[in-house]
Amino acid sequence: MRIIESAVCPFCACLCDDVVISVDAEGNKITGIRNACTIGVQKFLSTRNEGRIRNPQIDGKETDYEAAIEKAVDILRNAKKPLIYGLSNSGYTAQRVALEIAKHKKGVYDISESICHSLLYSELQKGDYPFYYALLDEIRDNANVIIYWGANPIVSHPRHLSRYSVYPTGRYALKGVMDREIITIDVVDSELKKISRWFLRLNPGEDAKIAEVMTRLVKGETSGLRELVDDEIDFDTIVKITDRLKKAFYGVIFVGLGVLSSEDAPQNIKAIFALVDALNKAGVKFVLFPMKGHFNVMGAVQLLLRETGYPFGLDFSCDKIFEPGKTTVLDVLDEVDAALIVGADPFSSFPKAKAKKLCDMPVILIDPFETPTTLISSVVFPTAITGVEAEGIAYRMDGLPLKLEKIVDCPYPSDNEILDRIYRGLVVASSELL
Ligand code: SF4
Repeated sequence: MRIIESAVCPFCACLCDDVVISVDAEGNKITGIRNACTIGVQKFLSTRNEGRIRNPQIDGKETDYEAAIEKAVDILRNAKKPLIYGLSNSGYTAQRVALEIAKHKKGVYDISESICHSLLYSELQKGDYPFYYALLDEIRDNANVIIYWGANPIVSHPRHLSRYSVYPTGRYALKGVMDREIITIDVVDSELKKISRWFLRLNPGEDAKIAEVMTRLVKGETSGLRELVDDEIDFDTIVKITDRLKKAFYGVIFVGLGVLSSEDAPQNIKAIFALVDALNKAGVKFVLFPMKGHFNVMGAVQLLLRETGYPFGLDFSCDKIFEPGKTTVLDVLDEVDAALIVGADPFSSFPKAKAKKLCDMPVILIDPFETPTTLISSVVFPTAITGVEAEGIAYRMDGLPLKLEKIVDCPYPSDNEILDRIYRGLVVASSELL
């Protein structure tokens, strides 16, 4: 029996690093998991999942890795402008190799961030926002007012509250939850309602308006605000919440996809930025923190920022490689002539009309699991699960890098190894042309 202390859970961007795993080394089996949430446990046990891809495939027929690599290299060699997409569920090294492939082929490299958080980056580009982001450890140590806006971490990041925001003790929250107040703002009732001091239920499309009212209250305005708020929402509650924000020792707004990806996202983001800005200008320390989903989406963003200065959606065939609305994945599907998808299921997650375009080009898929994208792929590579069957580096949602362990052996190569072989095949193919 082998015990792995402090394993990192590779499911969501919380990357909980206190998971204790017992492994029957002889039987190569996980026999016990402590500290992970239910979805984390499922991820560690997904090695036994029925939905694993068992063998490489070419055009739906099983083959070996050699033949599949050859075919993938052939597809990419002949492509004039391939799309490389996904990678938020891959380790940092795999992300790097995939980026090299995109640069080598002058293709497009994009990650899920361009679909979930692109409007947030547009706002960030407009100004200097010193209140954007903080280390989760800093938030845990200091925050006494915690707002979840358009986010339900109990479902998406179950241990976020117990590790980083609500329940843990901190330097200035010695009694943990007793020293903190939780406010939830959402368009649906959620599990957070039970533990929130205030739960503000809005109608869809009202987030920006409420943020604006709060901003004006922070600035000391009072007249004419009640009329701006829908009758169904209690204006006095908004006043009380804003008063509490103004008295915070350290506050944080965790924003979720309910705000960042809704129809009214541009106005919502702008208005919430303005609220946090007003609070800071009024002398109240407040930070804005977007909830990140996939376990290494931050690694992908950090890599791109480091290598190119841009966070996602890069078209290496253009002089101006980053232009949201032109170079991001949903904009280029008409222009690309092949796709290399790593650990993602765009056929399910893209809007239907966009997803259909993937059927018009050869798709190479690298993934441990079957998804609808498997069915439309010309070449399929099964891989080890990073953080369970292969090691890697991942970046927590606040940008902290952590090492993911290999816990059990498996018969599959890592996505990094497959990408590396494809890249080397492409480099050899280009040198032969010289
Ligand atoms: S909160 Fe996320 S990282 Fe932590 S154990 Fe659950 S799924 Fe894993």
